[in-house]
Order: sequence, then structure tokens, then C-alpha cells
Amino acid sequence: MGHAERAHALLSASGAHRWLVCTPSAKLEEQFPDSTSEAAKEGTLAHELAELKVRHYFYTPDFGKKKYTTRVNKLKKEDLWKDEMERYTDEYLDMLRVTALGLGAPPYVAIEQRLDLSDWIPEGFGTADCVMVYGNTVHVFDFKYGKGVQVDAEQNPQMMLYALGAYRAYKMLYPIAQIKMTIIQPRIDHISEWTCTLEELLAFGEEARSKAMLAMEGKGDYHPDEKACRFCRAKAQCRARSDHNVKKAFNIGELPPLISAEEAGKRLLELQDVVKYQKDLQDWALSECLAGKDVPGWKAVEGRSTRDWTDMDDAFDKLIKTGITPEEMLYEKKPLTLAQVEKLIGKKEFQDAVGEFVVKKSGKPTLVKESDKREAITNRVTAEQAFEEEK
Ligand code: SF4
Repeated sequence: MGHAERAHALLSASGAHRWLVCTPSAKLEEQFPDSTSEAAKEGTLAHELAELKVRHYFYTPDFGKKKYTTRVNKLKKEDLWKDEMERYTDEYLDMLRVTALGLGAPPYVAIEQRLDLSDWIPEGFGTADCVMVYGNTVHVFDFKYGKGVQVDAEQNPQMMLYALGAYRAYKMLYPIAQIKMTIIQPRIDHISEWTCTLEELLAFGEEARSKAMLAMEGKGDYHPDEKACRFCRAKAQCRARSDHNVKKAFNIGELPPLISAEEAGKRLLELQDVVKYQKDLQDWALSECLAGKDVPGWKAVEGRSTRDWTDMDDAFDKLIKTGITPEEMLYEKKPLTLAQVEKLIGKKEFQDAVGEFVVKKSGKPTLVKESDKREAITNRVTAEQAFEEEK
């Protein structure tokens, strides 16, 4: 099955972190379209490349150099292709390679295998990026191309569901007692591993099964939670989440599950200050932690570190000596922006010379208060526009 066509069951493994915490969310989400972001499409492309690399490495006789090169060249023609995908998928392959080579005997390797989860989730299935089975161990690998949120393997429900599916698939052939899970998130230089026993995994499976029963029916309690709500399709209109955020400031009782546009308008106004307040509170708590004081439940840590040259000129000189051409490989040639060119040659000269090539594009729609001076816009087609089009 292609990465883009992976069917989404009502209770998907990738959404398990949500429906396990907030069981009615899966049914509520059904009312909203499942839109795919540019970042998700980019991730799909990177996964396709990763799959080809893994297949070529572990199954070379069936998927040799020629097949591999043809398929990769096809991916390179995609609009979202970026050369950096090569490097990131290499890091994923390296992890699998090192794991396999570090074992006493070659493992069984399943790539992009559809795993049956129906023992725990009605009609449930999931597709793991890679599963290795060796000795008494099932090892599930997941390649994450996102860089916005760091994902850890420990108690990760998506990984545990894949592990359950892998256990189900191989328990007759291998004496499985240990479960390993590895998440490789190369764009933020993050690798996370976790190991549990079969007993722990099966206990999780029992819990998942009872939650899945509730979730299928849309039953149980709404449970707003930062992680669960982050990618929930109902997150903007969900009353539980809205109430949860506003409750501390505004005492709200029991009302229908979705908020109306009128309420959304009011709450946006109310939330403005709540959001600002939260930011102020965060800044204050950070300064307290840095001062060595205790803020229960919080701590200060070093932010994500970035790499930098100690001496870029020396480093580039060394690279050039290895045969790298500086113009093509070390420096990017970028055009100045329109505003920069105008600044450089002056407004009038700019207008005279290239004014005819300038168009003013409409700005991205932005939500502002009614008191704002700009004219309101809408995507709705007016009767006059419809009449014009018909003509
Ligand atoms: S937004 Fe949060 S609380 Fe609301 S349904 Fe989604 S996960 Fe549950």
C-alpha cells in the first residue's frame, strides 16, 4: 500500500494518543474533513524514499540497484522533493543497518507491513515502517519526518499498537518475550528507544481494547489534553477544549458539544487575555526556575541546541581542497526581495525602471476585531459575480 493511500480507520494507530485519552474524540472528528498539510505530504515523500532505501538494502536480490535508481529518480521529480531528504533517510537506514548488524544472526525484516490490530481495535490495522524479529524480540521502528514536535518511544501508544500487531503476526514463529521500539526523527537529531516485556504490552492491549470499545461508540468523557487536542480535527470547535481553557476565568455549565459561531466570537475575545496571561506566567515561572526556585511541575532546561561552525572560512577552505566547488556547493545565489531592490536603487528609479513588472497580490485572510478599519472580505460568491460568470 502506498504511503499516501494508507486508509484511515476510525481508530487509527497514529491517532491512538488521542482516542485513548479522549474516547469520544474519534466520533466527533468524523464531522470534520481530514485535510493534508504540505508538511504531511513532504513526510509522505520522505517515507517513500526511506522505504526504497530499506528495501534495497535488506532485499537487494528482489530490489536491485536498477529498480531502486528508477524509483528514486521518479520521486526526485515530485514538486516537494528536497535533496536533504537523502541525508535524513540515510540516517534512518543507518539505524536499521546498525541494529541488524549488531545481532548474532540476521533478523527477519518486514518493511511497510500492514499489521492486523483487530484483536484490540474493531477492524483496526496499522502499517509499521519496519519490524525486525530476532530471538525472543520484536523490534518496531518508526521514521518520523516531522520536526515540530519531538516524539518519544516510551509508552508511545502508536508504537505499542504496532508492536501488538507484530506480536500477533509472529507469535507462532518466534518465542516473543521482549518488545523494543525505536523512533528515528532525523530532522531534529532525535532517536528514542524503549523496551518493555510482553506482559506489559499485553496489559496495554487490554486497556486499549476497552477504550476502543468506548471510542467506537463515541462514548466516555471528553478529556482536553495538550497532546491529545493538538492535532484533533475538532480542536477549534470542541466545547470540552474551549471550556477547559476558559473555565478558570469564566464559570461555564453544561452545554451542547460544539460551540456556535457567536460563542466562538465571544470566546476569541475572552481568550485573548488568557493566552497573554499564560505567556506572562510562563516567562515568570522560567525566571523563578532559573533563579533556583521551585515551581511544582515545571523546570528550566536548555533549549534545543543548534550546530555552528567554529570558523566557517577555515571549514570551507578545507572542503574546497577536497574538490568541492564553492559556487555550486557551498554558496546559494539568492535574488534580493522586491523591497530590497527598491531600497537599493530608490523608489522613483525603481518605479521608472521596473514598475510595470510589479503586481500587488492580496494578503492572506486574517481574523481581526470588528473595529479594524479594513473592509471585511468573504469567499462567498455574490449574486452579481454568479450572474457575470454565467454570462
Ligand atoms: S479537541 Fe481535545 S477534548 Fe476535544 S475532542 Fe479533540 S481531543 Fe477531545
